[in-house]
Amino acid sequence: MSIQTSDSSSNDYGKALSLIAAHSHISGLGLDENLQPKATSQGMVGQSQARRAAGVILKMVQSGTIAGRAVLIAGPPSTGKTALAMGLSQSLGQDVPFTAIAGSEIFSLELSKTEALTQAFRKSIGVKIKEETELIEGEVVEIQIDKSITGGHKQGKLTIKTTDMETIYELGSKMIEGLTKEKVLAGDVISIDKASGKITKLGRSFARSRDYDAMGADTRFVQCPEGELQKRKSVVHTVSLHEIDVINSRTQGFLALFTGDTGEIRSEVRDQINTKVAEWKEEGKADIVPGVLFIDEVHMLDIECFSFINRALEDEFAPIVVMATNRGISRTRGTNYKSPHGLPLDLLDRSIIITTHNYNEQEIKTILSIRAQEEEVEVAPDALDLMTKIGLESSLRYASNLISVSQQIALKRKSNTVEIADIKRAYLLFLDSSRSVKFLQEYQPQYIDDEGKVQIASNM
Ligand code: ATP
Repeated sequence: MSIQTSDSSSNDYGKALSLIAAHSHISGLGLDENLQPKATSQGMVGQSQARRAAGVILKMVQSGTIAGRAVLIAGPPSTGKTALAMGLSQSLGQDVPFTAIAGSEIFSLELSKTEALTQAFRKSIGVKIKEETELIEGEVVEIQIDKSITGGHKQGKLTIKTTDMETIYELGSKMIEGLTKEKVLAGDVISIDKASGKITKLGRSFARSRDYDAMGADTRFVQCPEGELQKRKSVVHTVSLHEIDVINSRTQGFLALFTGDTGEIRSEVRDQINTKVAEWKEEGKADIVPGVLFIDEVHMLDIECFSFINRALEDEFAPIVVMATNRGISRTRGTNYKSPHGLPLDLLDRSIIITTHNYNEQEIKTILSIRAQEEEVEVAPDALDLMTKIGLESSLRYASNLISVSQQIALKRKSNTVEIADIKRAYLLFLDSSRSVKFLQEYQPQYIDDEGKVQIASNM
């Protein structure tokens, strides 16, 4: 079977867009060269222990040798668990796949839970494919056209420099095809018809002005470089295992890559691809790049998903799985058992756990001020103090949400700066969770309960 690959970005950032927007101020883990956290760097504030631990994970992923591990980031709400994962993703760079999903995304009518998880796992494994071309000395591999020689220039010097393969791609594949077919040698002059891309070899003694004139303005002339040419040239594409699956799945075809509508992929297709990729690896044609699969709100998964993850971590091609949860001791979905973070004990046992802690006042203030800058909202110093107090008493996320709301209120009174009064107004207009609870306790009788009945107040 010949396996097709496509060159496209393997990071599944599209789906994670909404996660990233709240974390757009984060550009890395903010660590120094010894992986020690700087107080505030790359948008990251405090949480030093967790960042140091994430730095170790970063090294593990970068070394590419330790895959199939599970990491659990556990901590109270709004303590930066997702921010930490995003920082890790940013630090990994473009070539290492990073897939972010929320636990609840696994449940859909289109895909079974295990298929959705399999796809997420395979999106997080990169395959670096090296294409090597054997070259005969003198064959044209790298050319750059000096624009001044296109058209009917007379004595224009034909300059061809050695450049990288991308330049060749820019010039168009027809041309490369023509060149290699013609076995053009160093020193040869070739003409390229701009419209059809047809290449004609004109020999070495062509560079005379009347010859150029005769060819007309629609022809480009290229003289092939003299001297040493590289014998081997390699091009590297990084694609994810999932992309290879989709392209080779006869029912779906590669267009599904753009629509995301991949449906279920047959396990035989995956088996064949695994065998082929293993072969490429063996032959030195491909490297496997284990990336990161981030599962936010992992407690939303059920026991079947957890057992799938347990098994998938032992697979030949497994990424590092980073999970996040804000649950304490809670019931594992699909069972009657309670366990730490709602995770079954066997998965917990194979996970390394990073904990995050609530922020102090100064840290909350710094994060809010970074968020205000990111959202381009000017906040008066005393208004920032008030927001910090609200963040401390309510939650960082609630205080952070007040930034854009207060800005709208400030704009309504034609001011570009958020003042204390704007924050107070926003605070009164929008409840935080604890006030919402109080409110409901007071007005519960007027709401519909789980059974769909309007409750009757007890004193009635
Ligand atoms: P939850 O358990 O509710 O999902 P979480 O722990 O994942 O919460 P985040 O969503 O990461 O919390 O944090 C809430 C907001 O605060 C986000 O906008 C995040 O980017 C920001 N934030 C949290 N921690 C930090 C930090 N250490 N440095 C900078 N920004 C942070």
